[in-house]
Amino acid sequence: MDTDRKIRVRFAPSPTGGLHLGGVRTALFNYLFAKHHGGDFVLRVEDTDKTRFVLEAEEYILDCLKWCGIEPDESPVHGGNYGPYRQSERKASYRQYAEQLVADGYAYYAFDTSEELEAQRKLHPNFKYSHENRLQLCNSLSLSDEETQRFLADGHPHVIRIKMPTGETISFEDMIRGVVTFDSSLVDDKVLLKADGMPTYHLAVVVDDHQMAISHTFRGEEWLPSAPVHILLWEYLGWRDLMPQWAHFPLILKPDGNGKLSKRDGDRLGFPVYAMNWQDSKTGQLTKGFREMGFLPEAFVNMLALLGWNDGTEQELFTLDELVTKFSVDRISKAGAKFDFEKAKWFNHEWIKRIEYSGLLPQINSLLAINGILDVDEKYLREVLALVKERLTFIADFWEQASFFFVRPEHYDLQAVQPKWNDEKTVFFTDMIAQLENFDPWHSAELESFYKLAINASGMKMGELMLPLRIMLVGGKFGPHVFDIAALLGREETVARMKKGLEAFFT
Ligand code: GLU
Repeated sequence: MDTDRKIRVRFAPSPTGGLHLGGVRTALFNYLFAKHHGGDFVLRVEDTDKTRFVLEAEEYILDCLKWCGIEPDESPVHGGNYGPYRQSERKASYRQYAEQLVADGYAYYAFDTSEELEAQRKLHPNFKYSHENRLQLCNSLSLSDEETQRFLADGHPHVIRIKMPTGETISFEDMIRGVVTFDSSLVDDKVLLKADGMPTYHLAVVVDDHQMAISHTFRGEEWLPSAPVHILLWEYLGWRDLMPQWAHFPLILKPDGNGKLSKRDGDRLGFPVYAMNWQDSKTGQLTKGFREMGFLPEAFVNMLALLGWNDGTEQELFTLDELVTKFSVDRISKAGAKFDFEKAKWFNHEWIKRIEYSGLLPQINSLLAINGILDVDEKYLREVLALVKERLTFIADFWEQASFFFVRPEHYDLQAVQPKWNDEKTVFFTDMIAQLENFDPWHSAELESFYKLAINASGMKMGELMLPLRIMLVGGKFGPHVFDIAALLGREETVARMKKGLEAFFT
């Protein structure tokens, strides 16, 4: 490969529905490689399969990349010098290349109707259109030139197929797998141009990667079997010297390691597989995404980067910038990477702890608003967040963990206090409330030592008096350090809650 070549990589999704996390990881690795080398990251929309095309999917894919912070440099909406970035808009150029391949003897017209092919499939369950049977089928190799010309002149529907050679070894060097070889005799004569004039993936990917000056083609392992067809096309079209370097990323596997992770696994096991919510416009079915499930983009991207890659150390938490600095294709593993939802949640938990306050604020504010809490003092909210951050796996947990900072508990875990309640405790709390009404300074550490001294003086046990206080302030047996809570609630509110709690414990 020409080492001075500008690094240009592409993410080439087909807009057919929700974006699977494997697709986002392909985009991410492409992005990281491009940014690491100061190159370009291109989004090419592969929309030539009209039967599977979904209009909203393109915008959705762009939104997913945006949410992840890995926006392309060139795309249908970002523009660029190598457009159009939708395959359907590049239609004109594909036929010309397919015809050139026919003229050069590397491809041929095939006129078989779908009924005829169906009949063949019935007759031969493992039917493949290939060197073994092509002369018995209806194509420009089996027909005479005159017949072929007549078929074409009559406007007979036809496809163009590659004429796979026999007995050749086709090989290339994969950046992850090393030298990979294929026996050309085992590969069928793939369709290159469809009857509707649209290219198939095989032709389009080669023509586009060439025309868009792509230097490295990185894609999922599921595309490896297509590589021999693509290599031959690069060669037959006379571009072999410009062929990109290739790498095929390992599959993302089901949690038990048994096969590729599918959307159905997510539905079955209760975790998201798509980056963001996806609503099927035909069925109306909504599939939940990582974003809506409460994942931070930082955590999602970090988790994805480690599905099949590591930097050679034990480090697991990386910002996107760190990933850009540290990423290298030779540290991507060949073996499939098992998806582990518990680990994904761990990443989110870690990122919630690390992320700047302002990054969490929009979601927290909307959670508060949903619960009727508006206009919260910013300083107060910051302090609440600092106290509960440690306890959140998802931002949505915030309300469950912190609602008592905004509303007085309505209900108490009476089971936890009433059975052991006695007069001595009533006296202790009545006295404590009176003292706290004048206590100063109202700080966590001071409140703690004052309260503990009082417990010692009472002769009762620590736990017997700590738990009721927590339940008075919070309602249940949860939450951060109880004196931090009291300090933040303030004197008036703490005292009011203690009075209300004390009353409740008697009823
Ligand atoms: N359109 C293919 C897909 O949907 C792209 C494969 C490639 O990157 O070459 O995954």
